[in-house]
Amino acid sequence: MATYKIAVLPGDGIGPEVTAEAVRVLRATSKSSGASFEFEEALVGGAGIDATGHPLPPATLALCKQAHAILFGAVGGPKWEHVPHEVRAERGLLAIRKELDLYANLRPAICFPMLVDASPLKRSVVEGTDLMVIRELTGGLYYGEPRGVERFADGGARAVNTMVYTTREIERVARVGFEVARKRRKHLTSVDKNNVLVVSQLWREVVTSVAKDYPDVTLDHVLVDNCAMALVHRPTQFDTIVTENTFGDILSDEAAILAGSMGMLPSASLGNLAGAGGGPVGLYEPVHGTAPDIAGQGVANPIAAILSAAMLLRYSLNMTREADRIDAAVRRVLEQGHRTRDIAARGDKALGTREMGDLVVQHVERG
Ligand code: NAD
Repeated sequence: MATYKIAVLPGDGIGPEVTAEAVRVLRATSKSSGASFEFEEALVGGAGIDATGHPLPPATLALCKQAHAILFGAVGGPKWEHVPHEVRAERGLLAIRKELDLYANLRPAICFPMLVDASPLKRSVVEGTDLMVIRELTGGLYYGEPRGVERFADGGARAVNTMVYTTREIERVARVGFEVARKRRKHLTSVDKNNVLVVSQLWREVVTSVAKDYPDVTLDHVLVDNCAMALVHRPTQFDTIVTENTFGDILSDEAAILAGSMGMLPSASLGNLAGAGGGPVGLYEPVHGTAPDIAGQGVANPIAAILSAAMLLRYSLNMTREADRIDAAVRRVLEQGHRTRDIAARGDKALGTREMGDLVVQHVERG
């Protein structure tokens, strides 16, 4: 029987509350899958700062490097807002991404039929939306050199950031795009600004060349401005989107509103390191933050964390059947009308974090 080591980094605020439910759901899948999980918890973010002075204590990084996958909660909060920039709670997450070279960020945006009315967009626009945005995470404008501000004697200044990509960086994220599209509806949209940026011209050239290895996947290219419009106009036209860092940052947040609530959105960050699970070692986390306004009350929606656990099974451990089972359990619980406060309509009874977790566990166990 395969045993997988999962590093569990709950972090701060509602992080520990929602991560606990995701762990329970993973345990529930192991009963029928024949795989077993060894969960090991470690400190990160504000919890790491309080205990050791560092947002990513060395023991936590060592654990992440040995694990087959990392289940992450959320980090940060008002308590740590005034600590020096280098040891901010959020640095813990950025440091793990850098250390493990997690270069592909996957963010699905699904508009569940029973939650269509929670979306700020019209039912006729969002109904049927089921897309995945893959954002390149370690290159481009956010890291390119030269960067900096030059101050002039006359009080003026000049600031520079550099958008830079190599063939290798584009090729590896494009391959993630094609592989993911292959597991979905086999349609990949590459987003760039090919009409203006030379970086985008290289991007398009490399993506087109990688496409030759994936004849079963249909590729199209869309300009980022058109994509931004189409996402709120005809989101159902998209299956899988792959794009560079800055465009992906903006488009994935835009796509997030289609789903209605922050509490519903999972994510994965994948790297190069091959894990024993058959897929790459990855970090899986809800898109939301630590929600200090509701932390400690037991009312946070655990679905984003639970769906992140399903992505962990799908992408790092190749346990597709169990991942599907979790996704289906979440759908069934929602279909039956169960809601946490953030997705409840007026008058609905709102469940707590644990109660929602219990229901998903029961459905996973029943299969
Ligand atoms: P947030 O996502 O924590 O909260 C935004 C709003 O959504 C709040 O009203 C919150 O109550 C609600 N919300 C979020 N998740 C929810 C859930 N699971 N169930 C129900 N409601 C939910 O964003 P914020 O308020 O901008 O940030 C709070 C802290 O989290 C900050 O310190 C920020 O830096 C940090 N943060 C961390 C991450 C991360 O760890 N990846 C991401 C975003 C923000």
